[in-house]
Amino acid sequence: MPIYDYECRNCKAQLSDVFQKVTDTELTKCEACGKDGLYRVLTGGIHGFMAGGNTIGSIADKNTRLNKNKINEMEAMKREANPEPEKPWYQKQGDKSRKEINKMSENQKTRYIMEGK
Ligand SMILES: [Zn+2]
Repeated sequence: MPIYDYECRNCKAQLSDVFQKVTDTELTKCEACGKDGLYRVLTGGIHGFMAGGNTIGSIADKNTRLNKNKINEMEAMKREANPEPEKPWYQKQGDKSRKEINKMSENQKTRYIMEGK
């Protein structure tokens, strides 16, 4: 049966070594001040964490790496969903703006559209 420590938010009273079943609901009512200020304080669990070699730092690092992969994946999906907008006809081959094209003679325009020059 796990042992819990409780502390009161309100009056800072501490309750240690409270035997509870995992299925028991958390205590909230503080015997010292009579208010619902109790919260469960984690004890012991942290040490088990360290012994396994999984420091909190290394877990955070791992999470960051996983997130980075996830983000890259999402970026790739976004790129697939939104391909580059199709270029307008006057830029399909060359890189002249519509204004430049308007200044061209009919022959020049035709050549630009055909050859991109
Ligand atoms: Zn209290």
